[in-house]
Amino acid sequence: MKTIIEPFRIKAVEPIRMTTRAQRQELIEAAHYNLFSLKSEDVIIDLLTDSGTSAMSAAQWAGIMQGDESYAGSPSFHRFEAAVKELMPFKHVIPTHQGRAAERILMEVVASEGHVIPSNTHFDTTRANVESTGAEALDLVISEGRDPELEHPFKGNIDTKRLNALLSERGDDVPLVMLTITNNSGGGQPVSMANIREAKAVCAEHDTPLFLDACRFAENAYFIKQREDGYGDKSIPDIVREMFSHADGMTMSAKKDALVNIGGWLALNDDTWAMHARNQLILTEGFPTYGGLAGRDLEAIAIGLKEIVEEDYLEYRMASTRYLGRALTEMGVPIVRPVGGHAVYIDAKSLLPHIPPLEYPGQALAVALYLTGGIRGCEIGSVMFGRQADGSEEPAAMELVRLAIPRRVYTQSHVDYVIEVFEDVYDRRDELSGYTITEEPPQLRHFTCHFEPKG
Ligand SMILES: *Cc1c(COP(=O)(O)O)cnc(C)c1O
Repeated sequence: MKTIIEPFRIKAVEPIRMTTRAQRQELIEAAHYNLFSLKSEDVIIDLLTDSGTSAMSAAQWAGIMQGDESYAGSPSFHRFEAAVKELMPFKHVIPTHQGRAAERILMEVVASEGHVIPSNTHFDTTRANVESTGAEALDLVISEGRDPELEHPFKGNIDTKRLNALLSERGDDVPLVMLTITNNSGGGQPVSMANIREAKAVCAEHDTPLFLDACRFAENAYFIKQREDGYGDKSIPDIVREMFSHADGMTMSAKKDALVNIGGWLALNDDTWAMHARNQLILTEGFPTYGGLAGRDLEAIAIGLKEIVEEDYLEYRMASTRYLGRALTEMGVPIVRPVGGHAVYIDAKSLLPHIPPLEYPGQALAVALYLTGGIRGCEIGSVMFGRQADGSEEPAAMELVRLAIPRRVYTQSHVDYVIEVFEDVYDRRDELSGYTITEEPPQLRHFTCHFEPKG
């Protein structure tokens, strides 16, 4: 069959509140044209993020009732730990309330002033947690990974030559190497097994541990199965286990590939680091058998980890992202290629060449999608990155709008609706105008700043 159907039936529904264009015009004005300031009930299709927005299964909801809320030694922890170790056989598994808490604890334990932590591309919270220790966060993705137009099967790969040079020169300053799978900040691009293996070999030569930022490990494994020689016949759990066999530890946001709404963990083999990490955990998260979570959350993760590696799920997941990407490409909308696992990124700079970068073409497109069809995406461009530490403004390297697809939430007809809205916006693209920022906080302005349309 050429139609890949959603491999689930719908048992509970969440109504979508419809709005008219006139209502949306009022709502977006009241929000000062900032999509983060909208109430989510005023959004028809919410593609702001795939983080924590997954729909849980009947089995996960049933598991929630089995949650044991004992302070210490809960059986829910043991089921969670066993489910993690089944795929990621690290010695120590430390639950946290989400991914950044695992990152903060890890960096607190290993990094300090004068250190460098390389990665393919650090996710923004990882970078912030590295830098808050005084260490430097260094991105070493392959050059192909920096070119949005270029097709390459594994654009998330780390440049192992540059990694080797860094470790040869400054090995003593590098407490560990991170590798983000898939590479979120680079467009959700996968890392090949060969690259993980090579990165591990380089690390081993310099006696440096390799950690995976594994938020989208299942999507990465699926890309390996599809694209890398020798993996077509292997099962997803086997590919996942092989990926982690090359690592010494991992950080995880369960809000991504564990199909839950909150959660995360840190896992590692080193006993001393684990002891220090648990001490940190107790300060800010909780006792080591629950971390920052309730017993019921641990149950939902344990079940989510079994569901996320099912091939029918992954095939449908990738098909929906690919379907949206293909339709936009056929329409003539420029997107980051190839389409990554969790999102489609639109290149607003080439779509709207008449809007200068510092009039925020990404914001213009994001607002137009909301006004036209109630779709909420996320600007990733000069609004997010343009403001410099000294208060001046520089255009970002790219002006993107990310449409992230929540897991198991929307059906193909929702995606068809998104495509239709795009057709309308695409036809009127020459009429869209830019924005100015009228109010902004000193940091992370994209969340709260106010905009006004130009002219
Ligand atoms: C989301 C994410 C994180 C942080 O996880 P949170 O659960 O949001 O704190 C870290 N790394 C990557 C690659 C992510 O996508």
